[in-house]
Amino acid sequence: MPKPRSGKPLRSPLEREIRDSFQTRKRVFIGLITGSSVFLCVFIALLWVIPFVGLTSIHPLAPWILGFVTAALILAIGWAALALVLNILLGRPVLFAKRLRGVTVKLFLPLMTLLGRLVGIPKQTVRASFIKVNNELVRGEGHRYPADRILLLMPHCIQNSRCKFRLTYDIDNCKRCGECALAGLLDLRDKYGVKLAVATGGTIARRIVVQHRPKIIIAVACERDLASGIQDTHPVPVYGILNSRPFGPCLDTDVALEQVEWAIKEFSA
Ligand code: SF4
Repeated sequence: MPKPRSGKPLRSPLEREIRDSFQTRKRVFIGLITGSSVFLCVFIALLWVIPFVGLTSIHPLAPWILGFVTAALILAIGWAALALVLNILLGRPVLFAKRLRGVTVKLFLPLMTLLGRLVGIPKQTVRASFIKVNNELVRGEGHRYPADRILLLMPHCIQNSRCKFRLTYDIDNCKRCGECALAGLLDLRDKYGVKLAVATGGTIARRIVVQHRPKIIIAVACERDLASGIQDTHPVPVYGILNSRPFGPCLDTDVALEQVEWAIKEFSA
């Protein structure tokens, strides 16, 4: 059986397929994160260099104190970026990095989006790359959770648009006719004992998370909603699965059930 660079045996062909298909996204992420860090470090260095000329008139030691603070900030950002890139490449946490997911979500994603815009990389590509790396960081934490604390969170567009049943407040209103993925998702819910909910928007999604208080969320959505959901629910870990959109955005979308099942098994205790 082939092994990833971490030495951990791959668990399924699906995992190998997912890993291979996202190599390009990884490269985008690494490029953007390196560029963002350099940009931030140069900016911080300038903050020191510019007032340096005038600081001596305040106190002879003032420039060196500010220089020390600047160097510490540059080292911290450099460490975070290096640890993150090594984590992505090696598939495991390195350099004592335990809180990289938070740094990625709060600091690097906004910077990467800005830099991506400046160099002409589409937002969707940056978001897809961020989701992929976020997933690896979530997996890298190595936690497993009781099934009833795992929440499968679906977008309402996954429901067949011609279905007359309302699922937002009671998912069991679904008659499992098989016209959309919800029938299969309910089967997975019953098989593994996880929670399943459908959200019609960000506000409802936040309310569902507050109600269920999950330890982890397996979320299905488009790049935009997944990226914002990952940010909104931090520090609750979110494993994101991109939906397929055969009829365009927000209409009769679909998801690979085997990918959802793989994620449930991956995070179940
Ligand atoms: S499986 Fe059938 S009943 Fe359930 S939501 Fe989809 S279309 Fe409606």
